[in-house]
Amino acid sequence: MYTTTTPARIDPCVSRLIEMLAPGGQASYLAVRPEPDATVNGCFSNVRAKSERDGGRMLCGWQLWEWPQVLVEAEFHAVWLSPQGHMEEITPKPHGETSVLFVPDERRSYDGQVVDNVRVALHDDQLIEHFIRVSHAIAQAMACSARDHEPPERIAPLRQVQRFLGRSIHSGLREHDPCPCGSGSRYRRCHGHELERALA
Ligand SMILES: [Zn+2]
Repeated sequence: MYTTTTPARIDPCVSRLIEMLAPGGQASYLAVRPEPDATVNGCFSNVRAKSERDGGRMLCGWQLWEWPQVLVEAEFHAVWLSPQGHMEEITPKPHGETSVLFVPDERRSYDGQVVDNVRVALHDDQLIEHFIRVSHAIAQAMACSARDHEPPERIAPLRQVQRFLGRSIHSGLREHDPCPCGSGSRYRRCHGHELERALA
């Protein structure tokens, strides 16, 4: 289970991620007020439609997510900048979050390309690192299949690994614990070792 949500506060880890992506950027909490026709994963088209209807414009930046004790994550995102200059979050959230943490990044605009989420581990642990690397590999495979107009066949096995790692991390497993395959070896020496080779 991949359980990210809006960070409860702007802690040093969240601040570091913001500094990495949008140096000097100011993050703020925005209330989620979805437009009636807005879709969960369609922030760019949602904002485009809203601007055509009501004026204002698209403001790109990063929406910040946190999986407590596991990782922080930034997703390339757009909010609506009203004609009065207010940032408004008009895109509904997958798990019904009522507020989001957003940092504008005026140097970026949406050009139709998929931008992978940026994830930073909150603990030095091979399971979390593997989860992040597999997630990145999925995004790359999706971008390739979109570019080459090919069915995303390579993605299914990666998603399986991602789900396996996600569930394991969620249940509290860490690199020095016995591998969930039941071999009796530590994850690091068992499937962690195999995955390390596969990812290399
Ligand atoms: Zn194993």
